[in-house]
Amino acid sequence: MARDIDPKCRKCRRAGEKLFLKGDRCYTPKCGVVKRAYAPGVHGKKMKRGLSEYGMQLSVKQKIKRIYGVLETQFRRHFDEVKKKKGITGDLLLERLEMRLDNAVYRIGFASSRSQARQLVNHGLISVDGKKVTIPSYEVKIGQKISQNSHKKEKNYFKNIAQALKNKKDFPVWISFDAKSLEATINNRPERAQMGVNADPQIVVEYYSR
Ligand code: SF4
Repeated sequence: MARDIDPKCRKCRRAGEKLFLKGDRCYTPKCGVVKRAYAPGVHGKKMKRGLSEYGMQLSVKQKIKRIYGVLETQFRRHFDEVKKKKGITGDLLLERLEMRLDNAVYRIGFASSRSQARQLVNHGLISVDGKKVTIPSYEVKIGQKISQNSHKKEKNYFKNIAQALKNKKDFPVWISFDAKSLEATINNRPERAQMGVNADPQIVVEYYSR
């Protein structure tokens, strides 16, 4: 299976902003964007940010892809999937990315980054409606319940998470969470304004329509 091995902080520096790819570290002074606020590479410091139209479209597409930690083939697959649906394709694309199981696990707070959430799913530690699901791109649906899989080895991990989630206040409005059972319910599909993604997804549509 293809893997993205590019250093995460490099991606943020390329985007020129924090994309929050490394969990807690992103909120510390060790953040790559804080320490080196210029593009990566030997000419990074001299680089100007004037981009052609194509360059701007490409950078927006790359940014959204990187935020959700999705490789090109899968990103394109999500795009082709939503293109056939009624509605604004850009918004539908972001909605599809938000409804990925790995993203939902991250939004709930079971993981501090989307890459960690993907690992939890891959390792069979997450259940949807009581059944183990190991596909990070799985699309969660309204009414489904997401919880830990009863995996003995990882009980301590979820014990610590339970403590942390007790104080968590920023649950997305489309998800509700029961701290006792450590179970989240998908209440709605997220709206564009609820996703907190600072990029216009319609530019991705323009990029792929070239
Ligand atoms: Fe990006 Fe996080 Fe690295 Fe900062 S620490 S550059 S936000 S991945």
